[in-house]
Amino acid sequence: MILDLDTLLRRGQAPARFHLERLDWPGESIDPSINIVKTVVEGTVSADGSLLTVQGLLRFDYETQCARCLTQVSSHQEAEFAEEFARSESEDAPDRYLYVGHTLDLTQMVEDCIALNMPLRTLCSETCKGLCPVCGADRNIVSCGCSADEGPMKNPFAALAAKLREENEEV
Ligand SMILES: [Zn+2]
Ligand SMILES: [Zn+2]
Repeated sequence: MILDLDTLLRRGQAPARFHLERLDWPGESIDPSINIVKTVVEGTVSADGSLLTVQGLLRFDYETQCARCLTQVSSHQEAEFAEEFARSESEDAPDRYLYVGHTLDLTQMVEDCIALNMPLRTLCSETCKGLCPVCGADRNIVSCGCSADEGPMKNPFAALAAKLREENEEV
């Protein structure tokens, strides 16, 4: 996710347009249970002296597990962004990113933007029924007939699964 400023600004358009794409995103700030399949960033760079403003639209496709039934889900998000890049740090503007020389590296900015716009949970469907807390069956597929207040847990992991799911629901 690197732009060459010489090439970009030499074209003489103001602001200068760019389009970047990347497959996979092994970013450290992104939840490892989420697989970022494809990221597309397009926008413009405008310069005010050495201060650059980068703005545009971020789109990304990702795969993760449904927070209720744990099946694999493919989903998509998009978000607008507008960030400033400076040559040196400034106490007045701690949110600015930095750039060096003639290249503008958008990697950290894009990764931050992905992390910020990732939903706290993704569902396979808004009406997903989730797993049965008693027997662990996927209630979208089978009707297991358990009642919620049925005696001791038949599946030793069902209690844990139900608890984890409750925590997810509370987020
Ligand atoms: Zn589901
Ligand atoms: Zn059941």
